[in-house]
Amino acid sequence: MKVFKFGGASLKDAAGVKNVASILQRYKGESLVIIVSAMGKTTNALEAVIDAHVKQTGKAQELYNNLKEHHYAIMRELFDAGDEVFSLVNDTFVEGEWVLEEKPSDNYDYQYDQIVCVGELVSSKIVAAYLNKFGLPTHWLDARDVVATDNTYREGWVIWDKTKTNAQKHVTPLLEKGGFVLTQGFIGSTSENFTTTLGREGSDYSAAIFSFCLDAESMSIWKDVPGVLNADPRLFENVIKLDRLSYKEAIEMTYYGAQVIHPKTIKPLQNKNIPLYVKSFLDPDAPGTEISSDTEDTYPPIIVVEKNQSLLHISTTDYSFVAEQHMARLFAKLAELRLFVNMMQNTAISFTICVPNIPDRLEKFIKDVSDQFRVKKEDGLELITIRHYNEETIANLKKGKMVLFEERIRNTMQMVVRNVPTVERREVELERAKG
Ligand code: ADP
Ligand code: ASP
Ligand code: MG
Repeated sequence: MKVFKFGGASLKDAAGVKNVASILQRYKGESLVIIVSAMGKTTNALEAVIDAHVKQTGKAQELYNNLKEHHYAIMRELFDAGDEVFSLVNDTFVEGEWVLEEKPSDNYDYQYDQIVCVGELVSSKIVAAYLNKFGLPTHWLDARDVVATDNTYREGWVIWDKTKTNAQKHVTPLLEKGGFVLTQGFIGSTSENFTTTLGREGSDYSAAIFSFCLDAESMSIWKDVPGVLNADPRLFENVIKLDRLSYKEAIEMTYYGAQVIHPKTIKPLQNKNIPLYVKSFLDPDAPGTEISSDTEDTYPPIIVVEKNQSLLHISTTDYSFVAEQHMARLFAKLAELRLFVNMMQNTAISFTICVPNIPDRLEKFIKDVSDQFRVKKEDGLELITIRHYNEETIANLKKGKMVLFEERIRNTMQMVVRNVPTVERREVELERAKG
């Protein structure tokens, strides 16, 4: 069997759903598990609903209604008025409404997962119904019956043995009946049947979980780009498509923030040697990128930019050396707060790290270590990682930037930079400063 994943971009409107059906038409009769994300920017819209609900601004229901109406408008383009899909989708929206009618939970992350899952649930119901109508028999499956996680809400840790047993119990019999199996990305459930999510953009990871548990022959993710490119096409011109990537290269790229694939996706696939194809839903015949085991590959420079980074300059308050026991304490705290260190460097009495700017967690970190450490924070930075760098690429990337921190190891060069304001902007800022 094979696993396919269609993300939000491929399902952003009725034409998108029709295009996905026409891609799947080519695989009619094959054993396929299809993972879908929420439609378009639904998850962002649901985050706004959750925020309004938790802050009790009185706007949650209105925002939720807009999202409902947006989905119904898409459905009216796909189905006749009396189609049973309208009531199936409505049932899911009503479940979300019940949560919104209750007082918000003190546990934000828990509350988030119970509402945000609506996006994937409705999109999967819509797509499955459309495929059936289109002549492609498809079984809808609730991913929460398969993907078992711990109760780390918003970042559920997969319980692999249980997930594997569930997959064999729930997915295999459906595949044996014939037809496709279609389920949601991003969501899972705890042993107490509460919904969890796997982290933003986690549907790629869901597809890898299903691939691993079902020993898929391959996995394909269908994107709005021709494949994996050597840089984000939204930030750079003249990007190159990579025909082939090793798992190792893919894991390095995604770890440093290449948004095309969720970073947790590669490991389960590598562990079972399952090839991953990144293909274009706009040009399904094109070969895309194949990610598979290592060979003697040569690569062009590959650039990954991660925005919204902070540097923390940490020093001991009593001028003692930053020694192993200090590091142990700092790292234990970072792990507890789920702050991932992208780069680090130390001197005798100071230690500098680059971390994503997540304000509430950084504030807590600074406060919790303040008895022993002084922490200075710099925000608004970018982390640029270049794999297989050359001097020309580095020089080009440094233009218009102030480099605060830089490091080179064999295949990887990293720098933390600040954009140097242009002359005009600097003048505006100076004017503003003068009042
Ligand atoms: P999905 O709809 O599956 O969630 P995403 O929008 O998350 O898709 O991922 C695809 C996007 O990733 C592309 O539109 C592209 O802008 C961006 N991207 C960032 N880095 C790369 C890269 N190195 N190669 C290809 N696409 C990239
Ligand atoms: N819908 C989720 C998100 O936007 C998961 C995904 O699309 O991968 O983060
Ligand atoms: Mg995505």
